Amino acid sequence: MCSSPALQITVVEPASAFVMCPLSNRVLHGGLHLRDITRSYARLVSNNRLHWVRARADGIEGLGTAAQQAAVPHAWKAGPQTEQLRNMLRALPDQGVVAISIPKVPFRCPPGPYERASLIADYLSTRKPRAKLLVFDANPEIQAKKGLFESVWASRYSKLIEYVPNAELKAVDSVAGTLEFDLQGKVSAQVMNVIPPQRAGQIARASGLANVDQRWCGVDFLSYESTAAKGVYVLGDSISSAGRPKSGHMANQQGKVCAGAIAALTLGQAVPSDPIIANTCYSFISHNEVVHVAAVYRYNREQRVMAVVPGSSGVSTQPGRSGLRHVLGDQHPQRHAGLKRARLRLSE
Ligand SMILES: Cc1cc2nc3c(=O)[nH]c(=O)nc-3n(C[C@H](O)[C@H](O)[C@H](O)COP(=O)(O)OP(=O)(O)OC[C@H]3O[C@@H](n4cnc5c(N)ncnc54)[C@H](O)[C@@H]3O)c2cc1C
Repeated sequence: MCSSPALQITVVEPASAFVMCPLSNRVLHGGLHLRDITRSYARLVSNNRLHWVRARADGIEGLGTAAQQAAVPHAWKAGPQTEQLRNMLRALPDQGVVAISIPKVPFRCPPGPYERASLIADYLSTRKPRAKLLVFDANPEIQAKKGLFESVWASRYSKLIEYVPNAELKAVDSVAGTLEFDLQGKVSAQVMNVIPPQRAGQIARASGLANVDQRWCGVDFLSYESTAAKGVYVLGDSISSAGRPKSGHMANQQGKVCAGAIAALTLGQAVPSDPIIANTCYSFISHNEVVHVAAVYRYNREQRVMAVVPGSSGVSTQPGRSGLRHVLGDQHPQRHAGLKRARLRLSE
């Protein structure tokens, strides 16, 4: 349907390449380089069926000042900050302290911060075993794969990781190297990684699309058309939690439902009324082991949300070996070099 010549597609995107957030925590650990998870948009730009505009759509600002970002990278959008945080970990003194601050849900990739903590702990356990990793969580408990992360941390990283729930960040002093929490007071760390509270992007807020709690975009889950503006479609992390977890896998599935609906509408056909989508998410708990969660979601007509299909969700019973070769895929030109390096590191 989407191959119809009646449809013209314009992509507005300022970046020249896609840098994948999934696996970006492995750059911190040293198992992958940023180039291993980067894909150029060149082939899409030269595709004459697409009109590609390399620009920002409107009014986007960075997060804080450049100086603050340099001292306290969030690395929650894979890219230069991911490498910066990795370099800071490498430079950490042997008995140094790393502190991660996790915001209240909802945030991009619910298991992501805990995966990050696991990989940093794995890295420290072999390179700087006398260092300490403090995980300050604004939530009352681990937000995804809780039992799995708890058991891995207790069995492998208990001397390294200290997990602090209900820790709401109040202030950051990048010069003094301190984080200040509501209940826990001031904490010093040589490496500070603050994952900020999240909301839909600036363009969504500025254009009035963020109509749920003034943070997230409400959509009709049959088409992903905004509930604030007819003819505007929103996908991915920006939509409200009624669309369920904020993951790349979900964004991909939403894109297919949305594309099908737009194509149907454009061609005068009925929009499919019973979308079913799935989410699978793997988290590394060490350089070569993963745990996963999976669930299937179906449109709930009464509540107008995507709801978990009863009995469809589950998590790993125990960590499994990672299929990194499969994950990186066959199309990537640097795959072989990247995998070779990764294998070398794994065997170190
Ligand atoms: C450490 C980490 C690990 C993760 N692991 C997983 C995982 O294992 N599995 C999984 O499924 N998900 C994972 N995720 C989550 C996943 O990366 C996100 O859910 C996904 O990227 C969301 O896609 P998106 O399109 O909504 O946002 P993005 O990927 O951020 O894409 C938004 C795009 O819009 C562009 N843009 C923004 N504003 C404008 C504008 N005004 N004009 C033009 N372009 C604009 C940006 O440049 C960007 O390219 C992880 C995330 C992190 C941080």
